[in-house]
Amino acid sequence: SVKRSGRSQVRRYHAQQDSVTERDQVLSRDLGQAIARQELHLVYQPIFVLDTGQVVKAEALLRWTHRELGRISPAEFIPIAERSGLIMDLGRWVLVEACRHAREWPEIKLSVNVSAVQLLRADFVQTLQEILAAGGVSPKQLELELTETALIYDDDCAAQAVLKLRELGVCVTMDDFGSGYSNLMRLQSMQISGLKVDRSITAELVAGPTRQFAEAVTQAAVTICLSLDIELTIEGIETPAHLEAVRSLGCQFGQGYGLAVPLTWDDLLRKYRDTQPAPAQALTP
Ligand code: C2E
Ligand code: MG
Ligand code: MG
Ligand code: MG
Repeated sequence: SVKRSGRSQVRRYHAQQDSVTERDQVLSRDLGQAIARQELHLVYQPIFVLDTGQVVKAEALLRWTHRELGRISPAEFIPIAERSGLIMDLGRWVLVEACRHAREWPEIKLSVNVSAVQLLRADFVQTLQEILAAGGVSPKQLELELTETALIYDDDCAAQAVLKLRELGVCVTMDDFGSGYSNLMRLQSMQISGLKVDRSITAELVAGPTRQFAEAVTQAAVTICLSLDIELTIEGIETPAHLEAVRSLGCQFGQGYGLAVPLTWDDLLRKYRDTQPAPAQALTP
């Protein structure tokens, strides 16, 4: 009957909610052990100069392989880590590991995602400086990616931290542009050195009812970056059509599964430092 199926739907709904909560609790608990158990590693997605096909940067992306649950997406565990405060330990581990790698290839710039929670800690810049020094890495080899949410805090704290980072010589990029609320004035007032257009915009560049709008957003990003003399990266280049579209709009840097998927550090070295593929080859999705 309608009544019975209605009730079982309610029960199912509750069961789902419970299991989500349970999973969150399990992940939150086990994330605390993940470093010690060596369940974390970084992968690197190459970032290409779209004109030449050269790889000049790579974005470090955190991976967690849970001993029972397998691979957990950072989209799932980073928010959990931010809520519990564990992001401080994880973020530190990521920076130390990225610096350890950076030393092996001084010509490449490594781009590391940093949470607002980390950035807003009073000692963040000091800690970063110590990690760079201990790793023997130049601040110029590091770029930090901050999400719009970190940068829209109408908070002097974030602005101060970014200014200190820039003084230190670390580049700071606004990530995920176009996916939420952007305070574009912050690009200038905070001396941000780059902008990354979210892949949700790139996806709309070909076909789709909002193609014209996506083109306008991308074109605006190109214009803003040119006029502020900052770097522009387009995420989510998956197909030759995406590549063609972003190239014709004059975008500077690009990354995406169509160009290269995230690789282990050793594979990145082998493929892009040691063998240096011809530009044309590198940019044929
Ligand atoms: P993000 O910083 O915007 O990173 C880009 C995400 O898009 C990555 O997902 C990457 O694997 C994925 N991606 C790259 N190219 C393509 C493409 O062509 N198509 C599609 N569909 N996806 C593509 P991932 O590695 O799952 O990371 C998700 C998010 O988790 C990141 O988004 C970032 O916000 C966060 N994250 C990852 N590692 C860290 C970290 O070490 N610290 C912090 N705080 N956040 C991290
Ligand atoms: Mg990023
Ligand atoms: Mg991004
Ligand atoms: Mg994104």
